Amino acid sequence: MVTTTSWQQVEARFKQIWGYDSFRSPQDDVIRTLLSKRDALIVMPTGGGKSICFQLPALLQTGITLVISPLVALMEDQVQELKQRHLAAERIHSALSNFEKRKILQRVQQNQLRLLYLSPETLLSKRVWESLCQPQVIINGLILDEAHCLVQWGETFRPTYRRLGAIRPALLKHKPAGTQLPIAAFTATANPAAQRTICKVLDLQQPKEVKLSPYRSNLNLAVKMVWTPRGRRQAMVKFVKAHPGQAGLIYVRTRRTAEELTRWLHPKGFSVAAYHAGLANEERRRIEAEWIEGRCQFVVCTSAFGMGINHPHVRWVCHFHAPSTLSEYVQEIGRGGRDGKPADALTLVSEPTGWLDSEDKQRWKFFAESERKLRREAKQLVKSLSAAGHIDEVLQLDRKAATALALLHSQGQLVWEDPFHYRLNVRQSSKTSETCDSLKEIKRYLSSRNCRWQKLLVQFGCEAEAKGMQCGHCDNCGD
Ligand SMILES: [Zn+2]
Repeated sequence: MVTTTSWQQVEARFKQIWGYDSFRSPQDDVIRTLLSKRDALIVMPTGGGKSICFQLPALLQTGITLVISPLVALMEDQVQELKQRHLAAERIHSALSNFEKRKILQRVQQNQLRLLYLSPETLLSKRVWESLCQPQVIINGLILDEAHCLVQWGETFRPTYRRLGAIRPALLKHKPAGTQLPIAAFTATANPAAQRTICKVLDLQQPKEVKLSPYRSNLNLAVKMVWTPRGRRQAMVKFVKAHPGQAGLIYVRTRRTAEELTRWLHPKGFSVAAYHAGLANEERRRIEAEWIEGRCQFVVCTSAFGMGINHPHVRWVCHFHAPSTLSEYVQEIGRGGRDGKPADALTLVSEPTGWLDSEDKQRWKFFAESERKLRREAKQLVKSLSAAGHIDEVLQLDRKAATALALLHSQGQLVWEDPFHYRLNVRQSSKTSETCDSLKEIKRYLSSRNCRWQKLLVQFGCEAEAKGMQCGHCDNCGD
């Protein structure tokens, strides 16, 4: 534990760097936990001063804290901010030149950095990993930022997330005896199942858990049933028009829908832009800036829009198409009303038979089917795998193999002996997919007649808070 005097030093440094007199709850709690070298799982909304919770402890120690972050834009934002304050932070990602990477790794090896941001893939790339394994490099801890990505993407397009649990023991083998290497996972939203997955995959040891409720009293929730594709568009336009000149977001699920809908809205005089992962980085940055500065009223976007984009005054969020998990839903509505003032969130959903409007039904079916296909392919691939081996050998076999390994890992049929060597454990019976469960959850939420917030709180493990709740500001509660 931190002694009183050193806690005074913590506060003094906090004031010196960021200029604040005191911490906002639960920042102090989290900082104490990290300084005490304990594993931690922190569920707190973005915009709540989350990054300071791991940056400050990192800056107070000699050596480096690794921050594993999913997106280049997120790393750049945080590192630029730290550098402006003349703090010893760096990042390594694919957009840097080899020269820059080498320079940063040199500073790592001389223990000159306090924070190093990187993606899971970069962390496990050969040169970076070898540098970090050098015995003289002092590593104080691992932070997994935006840890929900591990749950959301770990089994599909970011399979490296599934290997992170093997990092700690592998690094410790190269460090002096008695070295501690705590891991802290930070996420804005995670239901109990997602929390369990994070703890299990990272192999957190009796983690201290700090969880803030996802409830937001200024966020008004509504779900509207639509009967036809035309009806869906009309309902959306009506909702947009009810918020004249106010910043908003329309969420869709595919790049094509984002483009089509934007093309349809433009001639109607709306100030709108399409945003998705298919756009070039500069283009995305430009749209974000225009939206934040108010030159563009709203953005039609896929889930690519969100993390790291801070716009406190978003007054409305429309789900033209609902996401396939409640976690994504809560993250996306959570972009509204960060300034604490009222914001409206509306989700449009086809009537359940999908007879006239089959959009939702087909999309969900497609989603479940592609998951099943991945699992089938993984099963096929197991047959050609040796009982144990190196990831590089498997990748030579098949490009999709990394995903197959991640799926096997999630089903308990594969163990990572270190971040690069796997061992099959096929006798373990495979668990059923959580995908279908998460789909059922969101469908149940959308068709519910009870208080929406109550439903969400129960799903996110806040039963006590949810008990008897009538939020008074959702479509099922009325005002
Ligand atoms: Zn309610």
